Amino acid sequence: MRWACCSRSRRPRASTSSRRSTRSGSSGTAACRSGPASTTRPSRTEAARVSLGGMTQTAIIVGAGLGGLAAARGLEAAGWQVRVLEAAERPRTTGAGIAIASNGLEALDELGVGDEVRDRAVRSMPEGVFTDQGSPLQQGSTFDSSALHALHRSTLLDIVGGGREVETGMRVVGVTDASSGARPSVTIEHGAADPDATDARLERQQRQDRARGIRLGRRLQRALEPGDDPIDRRAERRATKQQVRESRESRFETIEADLVIGADGIDSAVRKALWPKAATDYSGATCWYGVVQAEADSPSGMRQYVGSGAEFGMVPIDGGRVYWWGMAHARMGRTSRDELEAARERFDTWAPEVRDHIAATPQASVMRRDLHWLPTPLKSFHRPGVVLLGDAAHAMLPTFGQGGSLTLEDAATLGILLQDHPLEQALRAYDSERIRRTDRFKQLSHRLARVTTETRSSVLVAARNGAYNLLPTTLAEIAGDWMLHWRSPRAKR
Ligand SMILES: Cc1cc2nc3c(=O)[nH]c(=O)nc-3n(C[C@H](O)[C@H](O)[C@H](O)COP(=O)(O)OP(=O)(O)OC[C@H]3O[C@@H](n4cnc5c(N)ncnc54)[C@H](O)[C@@H]3O)c2cc1C
Repeated sequence: MRWACCSRSRRPRASTSSRRSTRSGSSGTAACRSGPASTTRPSRTEAARVSLGGMTQTAIIVGAGLGGLAAARGLEAAGWQVRVLEAAERPRTTGAGIAIASNGLEALDELGVGDEVRDRAVRSMPEGVFTDQGSPLQQGSTFDSSALHALHRSTLLDIVGGGREVETGMRVVGVTDASSGARPSVTIEHGAADPDATDARLERQQRQDRARGIRLGRRLQRALEPGDDPIDRRAERRATKQQVRESRESRFETIEADLVIGADGIDSAVRKALWPKAATDYSGATCWYGVVQAEADSPSGMRQYVGSGAEFGMVPIDGGRVYWWGMAHARMGRTSRDELEAARERFDTWAPEVRDHIAATPQASVMRRDLHWLPTPLKSFHRPGVVLLGDAAHAMLPTFGQGGSLTLEDAATLGILLQDHPLEQALRAYDSERIRRTDRFKQLSHRLARVTTETRSSVLVAARNGAYNLLPTTLAEIAGDWMLHWRSPRAKR
């Protein structure tokens, strides 16, 4: 995946002509409506033409995470011309791995990159569930469908992105659907601060200072007015209004396409614009995660430890590394200057291998995120000409490790349906394929959080551990096997 920064100030002039030619047609292109145009990249499969009507259809994908890049693959295979807009200026490479389950791998096969993931990921079987002191509670798995392919997120994004160019610094702040008869569109704010970046707070502070400065300036202007030349003052105000209009026009830009895909994660701007009532909820738990070089005591498959109000897990990933995560009951919004130290403290009394892995992690590689989810399922994942996928559509807790695999299923499903059906019909079929299945996993992930991060009293912890002991692994595997099996719409043809 190549990341092309498209912040207006840094755009290469050379791209302007290609932009103009792309904008000239209306139905076959993603077109800008206002403000100077942005960089448009010719599609990788430009030669491919949609068989329906013979005209290339265009899509804007909001977000270059796993869902956005996978959807780009799916749509291009279906002959669509795609632009991927990403708010961040550069990819986030620190901190995280991801374990892809068998259903996710099937979706990756559908998207044409399953074998590359098999080659680069570490395939392993879950080694079981342990107490926080390391005593076994549940045996490891043996079913093939339980196998995991784990790798660093940046490795997976590289594979799925496949060298495609992503337009970065393109924060989508507004979306319209096609209900008024016009084509759907997104509005981009160029140069908006990335809210996840560490300097975002500084940016907000500067904005507040600027606002204070403007208020002060206005007060000064009022104080000076009596002595000023009135004609000059009016000309000055007009000039200022003009400048404000110009700077607004160059800051905001609206782009149309035949389809807008909201793949912009749990805090999706697309969902907020068109599904304003859908609200995320704090789960009551926070999560630290990091990547560390494997040592002698590192596991060869995924291990899960459960304690009082917390869960710790680790899994081997590519590059001889281990990805670990530690979820714990916590008040929302708590952060620490040193998250490595905070994680170390929280898991201080756990099994030695847990403590060792945290302690050996470089500080910069430890991240923390409060865990939110979308409790109420959306009745539909689409509006006219707009569709949601991944966390934007069905953000779930990571307790079952299925968010990413289901996101891949979404993307593969959408691509197949768009190949087979006209747009609105494909979007209706997408709802039937995806809403029930994703909600089932979402509710299960939430129930799992109740028995891990929500189980805190010693009586409940003992009862939970006893239940783990009693539940035969085979039973859990049979249930898992049934749930994980994904039948792509292609298989149902
Ligand atoms: C701690 C943790 C561990 C997890 N572990 C696993 C696991 O092992 N296996 C698994 O299958 N799943 C796992 N998941 C879930 C998985 O990470 C997500 O389900 C998956 O990343 C969703 O992908 P996405 O593309 O929908 O969203 P994201 O990965 O969040 O990507 C969204 C993208 O959109 C961009 N964006 C956001 N807003 C805008 C905007 N307004 N304009 C433009 N761009 C925007 C973001 O910068 C980002 O690049 C885990 C989740 C967490 C929190």
